[in-house]
Amino acid sequence: MNQNELYQQVILSHNKSPKNFGKPESFTHWAEGFNPLCGDHYFIYLTIEDNVIKNVFFEGEGCAISKASASLMTESLKNKTVEEADSIIKKFHDYMTLSEGDLKELGKISVLSGVKDYPARIKCATISWHTMKQAIETPVSE
Ligand code: ZN
Repeated sequence: MNQNELYQQVILSHNKSPKNFGKPESFTHWAEGFNPLCGDHYFIYLTIEDNVIKNVFFEGEGCAISKASASLMTESLKNKTVEEADSIIKKFHDYMTLSEGDLKELGKISVLSGVKDYPARIKCATISWHTMKQAIETPVSE
C-alpha cells in the first residue's frame, strides 16, 4: 500500500468510527473550535490530573479530514503530560502550516502529512489541534 492509499484508508476508517467520540460525564477542561471555511465544528473535553491528560474526548460535526484528524489526535495525546502534548501539537502545527520538520516521529499521526497535497484542507486537519491547545488552557469554571 502506498502512502496515498494509506492516507485515504486511515481517513475513511477514522471518519466512519472515530475514537474517543462523545461528551464525557465529567471533564476538567474544554474548548470549542470552528472552521468557517468548511463548517467543521468541534468540542474537545479533557480530564487533566497531576499534569497528565487522563482522558480526551471530542464531539461535533465536520468533514472526513477534520474528524479523522481529531480522532487520531485524541489517540495520540491521551496519557501524555501537558508538556508532551504541547510539544506534539507544536510539531504538528509547524509541519502543517510552516512546512517545518516532519511528522515521522509522531507515529500514526504522520499519515496526515497527506493533507499537505490539498492546501485548502489544511485548516480541516488543524482545527481540532487548535481547539485542543485552547482546551488545555481552559479549565471548567467552578
Ligand atoms: Zn473540513
